[in-house]
Amino acid sequence: MSDNNVKVRFAPSPTGMMHVGNARTALITWLFARSQQGKFLLRIDDTDLERSKKEYEDAILESLTWLGIDWDDFARQRGRLDRYDACIEKLKSEGRIYACYETADELALKRKVQLNRGMPPIYDRAALNLTDEEKQKFEAEGRTPHWRFKLEHTPIQWNDHVRGEVSFKGEDLSDPVVIREDGSPLYHLCSVIDDVDYGITHIIRGEDHVSNTATHIQMFEALGAKVPDFAHLPLLSDGEGGKLSKRLGSLSIVDIRDDDGLEAMAVVSLMSRLGTSDPIEAFTSVQPLIDSFSFSKFGRGTPKFDPNELLRLNKKILHETNFADVKDRICIADMDEEFWNTIRPNLNKLSDANEWWHVINGPVTPVIDDAAFIESAAALLPTSPWDETTWKSWTDAIKTETGRKGKELFMPLRQALTGMEHGPELAFLLPLIGADRALKRLKK
Ligand code: GLU
Repeated sequence: MSDNNVKVRFAPSPTGMMHVGNARTALITWLFARSQQGKFLLRIDDTDLERSKKEYEDAILESLTWLGIDWDDFARQRGRLDRYDACIEKLKSEGRIYACYETADELALKRKVQLNRGMPPIYDRAALNLTDEEKQKFEAEGRTPHWRFKLEHTPIQWNDHVRGEVSFKGEDLSDPVVIREDGSPLYHLCSVIDDVDYGITHIIRGEDHVSNTATHIQMFEALGAKVPDFAHLPLLSDGEGGKLSKRLGSLSIVDIRDDDGLEAMAVVSLMSRLGTSDPIEAFTSVQPLIDSFSFSKFGRGTPKFDPNELLRLNKKILHETNFADVKDRICIADMDEEFWNTIRPNLNKLSDANEWWHVINGPVTPVIDDAAFIESAAALLPTSPWDETTWKSWTDAIKTETGRKGKELFMPLRQALTGMEHGPELAFLLPLIGADRALKRLKK
């Protein structure tokens, strides 16, 4: 069932490179929007002035575009500071936001004392009891306040699209800090104000935000707004079940594209299906993923991200990709459809195509250490036409003649034919090199 009133947002902080974990949240949010004919807002959460960087924002936009994720609306939090101020003033006047003067060290000490007494480290609201004189005294000492949102001590509940019924008690949570000492607003309240103003109907994000959500729900209510739906996705773990966050730096989308040279659809295929009851398959188009999307398929277990799975999908996708769809990304102009169709079943990555091209067409500098062996191999070359069985019949004949086998047999042939110790499988390569070039290389 689709609901074209759906409006979702993906809200990255431009404080680092976009990695597979962020990409997954973006993709699932986008798939949901598209499956509902809803709208997708890209919101840049850049209230952290020190850590937010334009280059990260650019990389986020580039990564999303590469993955095929488009947006209907765009917002940047830094452009909305006046709007946040207006809401903040209102909440201050209503007593929902209050000034606190504790230093970071004083707060750390309070937490330590609470923990030592076996109590949860919840802010004790001491600031609520400060008199005007005490506040003035602090300010005269040069202290500037940070501000907290006052939670109601009532039950907070929601029906999460992934986690089912979730409940918190207001009294079990610390009043969240919403304005820093320097007067700048923090993510929490800004995010809620944006979600209200942009008419967000569903908030989809990682489960590290579950307790934030409890406090956000009270902020929606304090702003007199309708509370949206929520879906909290389990965070990815690495292959061994450890936290992926430690390795995320090496799993940026830009690196996957540029350094690993993988296909966007490999990432999209894996990230759309990981952690769902649907099978992980290689998709060359996103439509089937949109059509099959449903939150009911998401489990609560921690999905494991395995880079080998990404490679497996990449390979499958390339094997199904038509020449027309890659020709603009191929850097050797002479590669044609015939070449592509011949080598395509042997590709792991698109860049392998270059390797195949060079090995087939040359120039190759043959490496020949044992000239006598190569000479007898050359004499045994089968007559044309060659196909994928030629390599086996040729090497069988050499084996019988010279008694060599295994690496001793194959490596000198590879080095003579390709000039390299590694490379694509010779069984496929040999017919493409062809009898003329092969003979020339062996006789060098
Ligand atoms: N900027 C926040 C983050 O990247 C957004 C979380 C949210 O979706 O509200 O964690």
